[in-house]
Amino acid sequence: MKMKTSFLLPESLAALWMDFDAHPNAKIMAGGTDLLVFLRAGYGKAATIICLENISELNTIKQRDGYITIGAATSLTNLLESSVITSQLAVLHSAIGELGSPLIRNMGTIGGNICTG
Ligand SMILES: Cc1cc2nc3c(=O)[nH]c(=O)nc-3n(C[C@H](O)[C@H](O)[C@H](O)COP(=O)(O)OP(=O)(O)OC[C@H]3O[C@@H](n4cnc5c(N)ncnc54)[C@H](O)[C@@H]3O)c2cc1C
Repeated sequence: MKMKTSFLLPESLAALWMDFDAHPNAKIMAGGTDLLVFLRAGYGKAATIICLENISELNTIKQRDGYITIGAATSLTNLLESSVITSQLAVLHSAIGELGSPLIRNMGTIGGNICTG
């Protein structure tokens, strides 16, 4: 029998932790370009998926005190278009430019890529 999947869309980190408390076995989805492919191919099941896309705290590129901080749910396109990444992290910028297609880069995130890796 096919399992039904519920999608949760928390809008803050505080709401995310509450969703995790209520659904400890939930899977996390950022852009879904890996996760949905895996699930559709039959590698695992998810009763609950918690989506990160509406959590603005995770979609940030900040430069302060000599550090660059990138939120886990920042899309690859946002990184490619960031003046901070272009000017300061040329190797990362160039690597992302090689990844997938514009559509995949619009959906895919840096956190999702690292977690799959
Ligand atoms: C057609 C196509 C082409 C592709 N080309 C490339 C390529 O050239 N190079 C490449 O490296 N990849 C490629 N990919 C893979 C994929 O697009 C990238 O790895 C992308 O960056 C994944 O990000 P995502 O946000 O979509 O991850 P998701 O699919 O949302 O998540 C991937 C995994 O990470 C977990 N996860 C996501 N975010 C977090 C988080 N914040 N904390 C903890 N766990 C998290 C998820 O639970 C899941 O297990 C391609 C995929 C497709 C479909």
